[in-house]
Amino acid sequence: MMQDIHHRQIKDLRISVTDRCNFRCTYCMPFDEYEWIDRQEILTYEEIARLAGIFVQLGVDKIRLTGGEPLLRKNLERLVSKLSGLPRLKDLCLTTNGSLLVEKAGALRAAGLKRINVSIDTLNPEKFKRMNKRGDLARVLEGVSAAQSHGFTRIKINAVIERGVNDDDIIGLVEFSRKHGFAIRFIEYMDVGNSNNWQSEKMVSKKEILKTIHACFPLREIGREDGSAPSVDYEFIDGGGDVGVIASVTEPFCSSCTRARLTADGKFVTCLFSETGHDLKALLRNGASDEEITERIAATWRKRTDRYSDERLEAMNSSRGYQPAEHKKIEMIRLGG
Ligand code: SF4
Repeated sequence: MMQDIHHRQIKDLRISVTDRCNFRCTYCMPFDEYEWIDRQEILTYEEIARLAGIFVQLGVDKIRLTGGEPLLRKNLERLVSKLSGLPRLKDLCLTTNGSLLVEKAGALRAAGLKRINVSIDTLNPEKFKRMNKRGDLARVLEGVSAAQSHGFTRIKINAVIERGVNDDDIIGLVEFSRKHGFAIRFIEYMDVGNSNNWQSEKMVSKKEILKTIHACFPLREIGREDGSAPSVDYEFIDGGGDVGVIASVTEPFCSSCTRARLTADGKFVTCLFSETGHDLKALLRNGASDEEITERIAATWRKRTDRYSDERLEAMNSSRGYQPAEHKKIEMIRLGG
């Protein structure tokens, strides 16, 4: 069993298939000008599948496809079909902004995709457009319902809650999810990347989110899925489904973090807040054997010490406070969520 310095196994792999996105969400992709990764540097599906196979051999049993917006990558179902055949892989999911789901849901399902998470931060069409500068809410909602008709169950809605922006949308999102049978996950606003201008005052804490929901729809805690999922889940006492909160800022979960990331250009990254990654593409393209690549990944993981969110909370509670600008990170658009 492969463990890092803090005895955490590698279990989950988040694969970013492209850094391109058709939205410009302020908390993730706040740039007007951005230098996209050169197309030749992007891993091919064959390269991704080979690396994924090696990660699975090392203990990964859950893969999530992300981006950028993963559905912008042509024929993503080709990759899904390669990955869904990996022995010992228990879960294969996709996180998307939903804008292309109407077109893609059927092919993804047929290729073996198991689950879909869709980011919807508000149900107000104007605010939706304001928050991501380009999106059309109606199109996204059509996409989610297309996914349901193609047989996806347990669809999750992800919502990042920012004070003064969409904290008044919490109940609307809960009602929407309950009505359609979706699971909803609220995410504390975080300092991902270097440019989202994060301030702790803008973050709505897990405690506040739960208090708001509990006042309308009483809840009971279930806990973390598999003991290591980022979200702490709650069920509605009236049986109307469940809701989760990912509290990376106020209740970090680094001690149980089993997540690794692979960027679209082949960097192996061991934390969402890492400053750099470890280049696997160079190994692939220089003819390294599976054994050599396995050894590089294993050696990197065994040395892993990441506990960024724990450290952020410690700093926030110290007299000096937490200074986001002092921490250089890979941009979220490159890394996926
Ligand atoms: S901050 Fe890094 S180590 Fe901690 S939970 Fe997030 S990804 Fe894992």
